[in-house]
Amino acid sequence: MYPIATAKSLEELHAFARAIHEHAQHCAGYPANLDFQLHDFFSWWVTSGLCDLHLNDVGRPEDSSPYQLNTHLFEREVLAHFASLYHFPPDGYWGYITSGSTQGIEQGLLMGRNVLRHIGEPIAYFSEESHYSVKNVLSLIDVEWRVISCLPSGEMDLVDLLNKLDTCRPALVNINIGTTFKGAIDNRKAILHLLATSDLPAHYCHLDAALFGGYLPYIEGESIPHIFFDKLPYDSITVSGHKFLGSPIPVGIFLMQKHHAKQIRTDYVEYLASDNLIIPCSRSSLNTLILWWIVHTKPPEEWRREVQAILENAQYLQDKLQERGYPCWRNPYSNIVYFRCPNTFIRSKWSLPDVMDRFFGKLSHIIAMQHVTSSLIDEFLHDLEGVKALHE
Ligand SMILES: *Cc1c(COP(=O)(O)O)cnc(C)c1O
Repeated sequence: MYPIATAKSLEELHAFARAIHEHAQHCAGYPANLDFQLHDFFSWWVTSGLCDLHLNDVGRPEDSSPYQLNTHLFEREVLAHFASLYHFPPDGYWGYITSGSTQGIEQGLLMGRNVLRHIGEPIAYFSEESHYSVKNVLSLIDVEWRVISCLPSGEMDLVDLLNKLDTCRPALVNINIGTTFKGAIDNRKAILHLLATSDLPAHYCHLDAALFGGYLPYIEGESIPHIFFDKLPYDSITVSGHKFLGSPIPVGIFLMQKHHAKQIRTDYVEYLASDNLIIPCSRSSLNTLILWWIVHTKPPEEWRREVQAILENAQYLQDKLQERGYPCWRNPYSNIVYFRCPNTFIRSKWSLPDVMDRFFGKLSHIIAMQHVTSSLIDEFLHDLEGVKALHE
């Protein structure tokens, strides 16, 4: 027996698991779906004996890797699923399964930089409400950037973009499809129009759709800010798998236009029999199998039902806060309700983040993920009432 299996160590682990379950009861401030069913998958993984082996998706999904303990076959199927969900032409995309949206942003902005450098040294543009990793990535890949202001809703201010745009150099643009804090969707159509009519030498648009990319394809209607590639093309997109879709391990999907992947010059890595296009070497096969399982076991009707539920619950929370005169806001098609920051007790009980906003002061938010039900929202409102009563 390894020492970890001693009664004392196990007791420590059990206590840890109980504490985590306790926190999960009221975890409402972050975009992780805590309501997914993967028990059957993990029992298969154990009974098949694959849990005792090291699988690794190293290399490009389309290559036959010399490391044969991989799941590239499944990875290609998962990518085909999402490419079709986003209306990419069947032969028009390239991508891979990432460790999350951050890795996808890194890959997307690097690809954009490399494509644009054929024409000139690019400048990157992203809004002040963009995910913090965008700046890290741009420092890493050594691209000059300009931060664009946002409107109070969190949407990129296009007047500021127009003012800051250097029309002599190619533009690398990060477009938010759902900002992390306020859930704002940048006006992609207007941004593209602005770029196309600005006499730029070239531009490359990366869509950061970490949370919303999971659910927007399941909403129907003409006015929806769709991320369908055929309606309004973009160069690359990233989506997180552990956000709307739901996974116990962080995971993401990266897709880009195939011709870019062909255009970028990379070296050939003999050791992997693959082009050196993907940033990481080792990649998780477990993640691939989890995503494959999810897309094969949950039908579109079920996803549609979940999207409807999260948006209804967000609306419910917003309505109830408004009834009570509690300052709150929500963007269209967003499951994020942001509001005046409540006290430390509430924030800690409900795992709520707080930020200083230049329009509204100190704010917090609740993200109505699948596990944030209307009865949980009622409990939150009850807590908030108690606190209000205490202060008045
Ligand atoms: C969560 C989030 C990210 C980071 O995604 P990870 O999958 O956690 O790396 C990036 N962008 C936005 C808009 C996000 O909400």
